[in-house]
Amino acid sequence: MKDIKLKYFKASREESIFDEDEKYGLCFFCKTDEFPQVELDESVEIITESKEEIEIVCLDCLLKEKYAFKQIVEGGFLTKDGIVKESDKYEYLKDDSNYLTDLLPLENQLLNMDKLKIKNLTHTPPFRTWQDATWLVHCKDFMTFIGTWEHEDFVKNSPDGNAKEFFDDILDNWNGDDFYDKQFGPDKSEYAESTFYAFQCQGCKKYRGFVDNA
Ligand SMILES: [Zn+2]
Ligand SMILES: [Zn+2]
Repeated sequence: MKDIKLKYFKASREESIFDEDEKYGLCFFCKTDEFPQVELDESVEIITESKEEIEIVCLDCLLKEKYAFKQIVEGGFLTKDGIVKESDKYEYLKDDSNYLTDLLPLENQLLNMDKLKIKNLTHTPPFRTWQDATWLVHCKDFMTFIGTWEHEDFVKNSPDGNAKEFFDDILDNWNGDDFYDKQFGPDKSEYAESTFYAFQCQGCKKYRGFVDNA
């Protein structure tokens, strides 16, 4: 299994949206059918100068910066028109009682993000998710996606082997009291279908992540 080793993506190629073994046709840019490729649909948008409709692109052309990906990040979106704040896309968020304390700082952090870091992230393959592939931010930089985690990964990466405590500590979104036990623990439910996306900060090495419920 091949890995992708980029600043913001250090995980198996299979964790990216690129397909390992499906040939869709010729890549729009290089006109070859080399692996890995991705067939674009409304869930993945690319940034390109081309006005033509583009269906198939390859990883190689992304790394050669022949096109870029629109990315979802904490606080907003990286688009062909630059940064779009989350509350510009979803105006109602500004009326939320937590807007000033929760979202606004993330938006400001994003607006102040170094331009080279933004360029670099748009040339990073999005990771494969059920819902939004959101890149987390830490230490004024995007965090590195390091893969999806299961129980053994929580044990291995935790400071003291306490997987559940570690999970609660680094999880960004909602979870119930026995959520970890049911969804990720060694005795998890046979119906468990949650996925945990793990990130690490390049600066301070802190881990963070979020859960996607299929
Ligand atoms: Zn190509
Ligand atoms: Zn950090």
